[in-house]
Amino acid sequence: MFDLIIRNANLPDGRTGFDIGIRGERIAEVAAKIEASAKAEIDASGRLATPPFVDPHFHMDATLSLGLPRMNRSGTLLEGIALWGELRPTLMREALVERALRYCDLAVSQGLLAIRSHVDISDPRLVTVEALLEVRERIAPYIDLQLVAFPQDGYYRSPGAVDALNRALDMGVDIVGGIPHFERTMSDGAASVEALCRIAAERGLPVDMHCDETDDPISRHIETLAAQTIRFGLKGRVAGSHLTSMHSMDNYYVSKLIPLMTEAEINVIPNPLINIMLQGRHDTYPKRRGLTRVRELMEAGLNVSFGHDCVMDPWYSMGSGDMLEVGHMAIHVAQMAGIDDKRKIFDALTVNSAKTMGLEGYGLDKGCNADLVILQARDPLEALRLKPNRLAVIRRGKVIARTPPRVSALHLEGRPSAVDAADYAPAFGN
Ligand SMILES: [Zn+2]
Repeated sequence: MFDLIIRNANLPDGRTGFDIGIRGERIAEVAAKIEASAKAEIDASGRLATPPFVDPHFHMDATLSLGLPRMNRSGTLLEGIALWGELRPTLMREALVERALRYCDLAVSQGLLAIRSHVDISDPRLVTVEALLEVRERIAPYIDLQLVAFPQDGYYRSPGAVDALNRALDMGVDIVGGIPHFERTMSDGAASVEALCRIAAERGLPVDMHCDETDDPISRHIETLAAQTIRFGLKGRVAGSHLTSMHSMDNYYVSKLIPLMTEAEINVIPNPLINIMLQGRHDTYPKRRGLTRVRELMEAGLNVSFGHDCVMDPWYSMGSGDMLEVGHMAIHVAQMAGIDDKRKIFDALTVNSAKTMGLEGYGLDKGCNADLVILQARDPLEALRLKPNRLAVIRRGKVIARTPPRVSALHLEGRPSAVDAADYAPAFGN
């Protein structure tokens, strides 16, 4: 006897028409046909059941603040930074908590059930940290939230950040952050990487830095980050977020850099929506794309996962908590349009990002947490193309969100009466 059985689901690895049996909070069986009955059943009707989406790079302290204290009229990074600087001293804990909780409601509706958020520690009041620690606790039943102590204005450049970062970690923030390319000099940047990796090693914490988020090919802090990762014994526990300067680097240098990153087992976190929006801004034409070398990094065996980064904040007025929108952009900007490419992109929104975050019990195997999402699409490729509705979102065996299928009624003589975009399959299947 099961508590819940999902019937006739397609799985991300290509298996079709499978049943998933759930007992308590765990997946108890995955089989072509489960004969047993259950207290409740969901008919997936040949739609895709996937483990939840995972966002390994987000800013929950800033999300949904678009328009506060005013709109970013130019849409540039610089006006965004200026706006955040105006807003930050006025932030109140209750308002921060409320905005974050509202974003998490949206995330759940999109099947996004694990998020790593950077938390700006530049305001010495650390009201952002207090607020997000509260949020982490309140949403724990439905979203796994990890927090990164992020010295947004620079670890050495911003007065008080060295102290504030340590206080944030003492308060219970999970991960050591950094922003070496924003320090005053290259050598300050390198020194910050060393100091922050040392703190992580001493405290036994992971590292996740905004690293080389610039078009400057000489911005090579990822090299230092990889070297310090090895030196401090942090292999596999360090993430390099953005890495956009790699787009513009000399190819010979990159041929040496990528093996070093592989040796250090760096987790790579590009943010395709934000990167294509903000990079190349100083270029006239041709304009660089600025996304890091996704294909090459994946082919070298590095764990690449994509972040949403921003939703409706001073830097980015778009976004909807839909990780498939992130993957959709990645396919275009990285030019990864092959069938295997798209499967890798889907992995970068799910299994790879779960690995980046070190989530336990993630996946659709027997014994994993009963966390999954049923999409109004048959397979990962169709999901990336359609960004479909999440018909059901399940967390620890309980349905926590449902969305009706998106079907349009047609009023055309001689044509079908309804259109479901998921009925448009390629001639020979995916
Ligand atoms: Zn970021």
